[in-house]
Amino acid sequence: MVINTKHIRTGIRPQEAQIGIHPGMFIGGAPCLDFANTVDWHAGGAPEDRLQDYAGLAEWAAAAGVVTQETARRLIRASRVRPGESERVFKRALAFRESMYRILAGIAQGRRPDPKDIAAVNGVIGDALGRLQLRAETGGFRLDWPEGEGKLARVLWPIARSLSDLLAAGDLTRLRQCADDRGCGWLFMDSSRNRSRRWCSMDDCGNRAKAGRHFRRLKERVAS
Ligand SMILES: [Zn+2]
Repeated sequence: MVINTKHIRTGIRPQEAQIGIHPGMFIGGAPCLDFANTVDWHAGGAPEDRLQDYAGLAEWAAAAGVVTQETARRLIRASRVRPGESERVFKRALAFRESMYRILAGIAQGRRPDPKDIAAVNGVIGDALGRLQLRAETGGFRLDWPEGEGKLARVLWPIARSLSDLLAAGDLTRLRQCADDRGCGWLFMDSSRNRSRRWCSMDDCGNRAKAGRHFRRLKERVAS
């Protein structure tokens, strides 16, 4: 099942939410931001998590393009025979995601990150970057993780690399949090020329804000 718009997100059950991976979720502009956006209403009082277990995480990683479909399938098969590790990695992934989200949302709001969150993401970043290997290819070299890597945490490594790239070398003045007043909370890089993007998506939060403004103007006109 594919859910096509984020509009439906308020009414979906957790099981449906997990398989509700759709192109509208990949609006962040960096894998770490898209991963942070696997929670709907992330800045609101009742966040809704689209990831429910390790398999869901690996499916998301394949849809996001951070691992290949083949790697995701292999890791999902491995997770079934290693349920303890699978559960541990999934919990670690969620804790990593929330620390990452607090750091990034804080930057977008002009706040300094909590050292505890930095320490938490450093654990995963160290794990990820420490396993990178240089490989010679025709015409150059590639820095990547070994093919056939069996560790279930493998899905987190490209996300951690994306986070370290963004924090250490990205243009953080372009990092934004959706201006939606219901608590959408999604994060994205504003790549618009005049740096004027305010909403995660014009089809969703942006459209609602526009419709709201239109409605208020109409009401004012009727009242005057
Ligand atoms: Zn939004």
